Amino acid sequence: MHNYPKPPFRNGGRVGNGYSASHRAKDINPRLDDTGDVLAIESGVVTDYQSGQAPGDDSPNMVIVRGTDGALTVYAHVDPGVFTGSSVARGDTIGRVDMSGVSSGLHVHLSRLPAGEGTVYDVEEREPTQGVNYTISLNAW
Ligand SMILES: [Zn+2]
Repeated sequence: MHNYPKPPFRNGGRVGNGYSASHRAKDINPRLDDTGDVLAIESGVVTDYQSGQAPGDDSPNMVIVRGTDGALTVYAHVDPGVFTGSSVARGDTIGRVDMSGVSSGLHVHLSRLPAGEGTVYDVEEREPTQGVNYTISLNAW
């Protein structure tokens, strides 16, 4: 199983809603003292992003990054600070956590997908059935 060695927040985090058949992702909640910056948990290239979504909209803001192994890491409820084609290194800031889409509290909905196009449409179509489980270390950077 793939392991991410760091959390998407500077000061650590904890898993709110875990991975299950009906939620093929983990919701990572920031600590109360966090800045709210979202950090890349592995290096790669941004394949697509979505911005301009509001709280309550069907679809959240998000950033999608393809790693060197071809898999996609998806950061949802994140106001993007990067663009399609941006190269990101582990630890780079890629956006800020927000309340866009359907969210009851600040968290990053973090999912992993095997390969694929990497567009927002591709991710939203495939994640409900093809999102894969992973492990993540939630210690601060
Ligand atoms: Zn979620």
